[in-house]
Amino acid sequence: MHKKISFAGPSITQKEIDSVMDGVKNGFYETFDQHVKKLEKAICDYLGRKYAIATHTGTLALHTANKSLGLKAGDEVICTDFSWVATAYSILYTGATPVFVDIDPDTWCIDPKKIREAINEKTKAIMLVHSFGVPAEMDEIMQIAKENNLMVVEDACPALGALYKGKKVGSFGDAGCFSFHGAKIAVSGEGGMFTTDREDVFEWAKLYSSMGRTDSGATFWSDYVGYQYTMANLTASLALAQVLRIEELVAIKRQIFSWYDERLSKIAGIKIVREKPDTRANYCYPSILLEDNISTERDFVLSTFKENNIHARPAFPRMSRFPTLEMRYDNPVATEVEKRGISLPSAANLNEEDIDYVCTTLKNVIKYK
Ligand SMILES: *Cc1c(COP(=O)(O)O)cnc(C)c1O
Repeated sequence: MHKKISFAGPSITQKEIDSVMDGVKNGFYETFDQHVKKLEKAICDYLGRKYAIATHTGTLALHTANKSLGLKAGDEVICTDFSWVATAYSILYTGATPVFVDIDPDTWCIDPKKIREAINEKTKAIMLVHSFGVPAEMDEIMQIAKENNLMVVEDACPALGALYKGKKVGSFGDAGCFSFHGAKIAVSGEGGMFTTDREDVFEWAKLYSSMGRTDSGATFWSDYVGYQYTMANLTASLALAQVLRIEELVAIKRQIFSWYDERLSKIAGIKIVREKPDTRANYCYPSILLEDNISTERDFVLSTFKENNIHARPAFPRMSRFPTLEMRYDNPVATEVEKRGISLPSAANLNEEDIDYVCTTLKNVIKYK
């Protein structure tokens, strides 16, 4: 049996170990939040953003964003139908309603044409995802937002280090959010980051992420119903070391992607999800679609992988189908991807021989019509 091929997992070096040791030794008393502060600054510096707040998870960063932008019951948010459910729930938490639209077949990110069609007088914001670390069409999305006076929230949870025309994703919208979950490109186990350039939104985000506390009254005073969302300093000590290595981490993912690309682009019926020109994906989760001429079921491919000690993932089921939402949308591209899409292993410990093994296993299981 071949060694276990993990789907995801970080690159941990002495730098991370030293930073966590520093966190555990020196992250208390007067310096109880020093790593959180350093992490928020490192993110602002990297993105070219003004403000950041570290949170327990990416989901909570998204909730902080939607709440601080003032979304509420009666508002509609145009949202991609293809994402991890946290994207949609972070809208629901505010009382607003997600309106699900289809994706671009090449990037699996929200299709700007479909955004235009979904706009009505209740629409307040666009929630996009840089799916699996591939940048969404930011020029067009920002243009649509401007023309229609809509806010933009970027779910960049898996996309730290991705670039759109040289600018970091997560730095375009009214808010941009990231995750440091253990399966992302930069990890802290659980962790998230809210970012914005808007001072007013940042002030609300500080209140909401820290129990609505203000300086207006006594110590422990609270003026708003807030949440306890801020990141633990020890967690930040790990995330900090990872963020300082982000270019190196992107290079690892892109190397793995290119090993896949060299092998899979030669196989008929496999469509590889790629960055568009003038963008840089971080290829957090390299993904493929089994095209129509392939008769093998996607789930049979996944079970064959499993038998061979390879951990791959099916693409996301459409969020609009969940019983918690029970909404009816056609979204044919996302429907095709949910049935025939696969994210391939890209853990940081994989080498070229491992990728070769995954590709050979895939090639051997595929049958054609
Ligand atoms: C990982 C992820 C999230 C949630 O992040 P957590 O840190 O797990 O809460 C949200 N949206 C997308 C697209 C993600 O990939």
